[in-house]
Amino acid sequence: MKKFLVLLFFMMAGLAIQSKAQTVYASSKGEKYHTADCKLSGDADSMTLAAAKKAGKTSCGVCKPDEHLKDKMVQCSGKTADGTQCKRQTASKDGKCFQHKSK
Ligand SMILES: [Zn+2]
Ligand SMILES: [Zn+2]
Repeated sequence: MKKFLVLLFFMMAGLAIQSKAQTVYASSKGEKYHTADCKLSGDADSMTLAAAKKAGKTSCGVCKPDEHLKDKMVQCSGKTADGTQCKRQTASKDGKCFQHKSK
C-alpha cells in the first residue's frame, strides 16, 4: 500500500511538471502563441499549449515556442511592481523573463 502511494505521488508530480512546462503566451486577438521571452508576446495572457491550439493559434516563427517548450521552463525570479514574484515562465539561463533580465 505504501509503495502504491509513493508511485501515485511521483505520477502526480510528473503531471504537474509537464503541465507547467507547457505554458505559452498569447493575446486574445493574436493568431500566434509565444514563449515568455518573446518580444512579440507583449501583454499576452498565459495559457496552456493545449488551450492555445484549441483556440486555433499557431506557434510564433520568431520565438518558436514548440522548440522552447522542450527546454526546462522555470518561473521568473524577478519581482513585479507590487512586490510579488513574476508569474511568467522562462527558459533563459538566468531564470528571468525578458521583462526582468538584466540588460
Ligand atoms: Zn513569439
Ligand atoms: Zn519576469
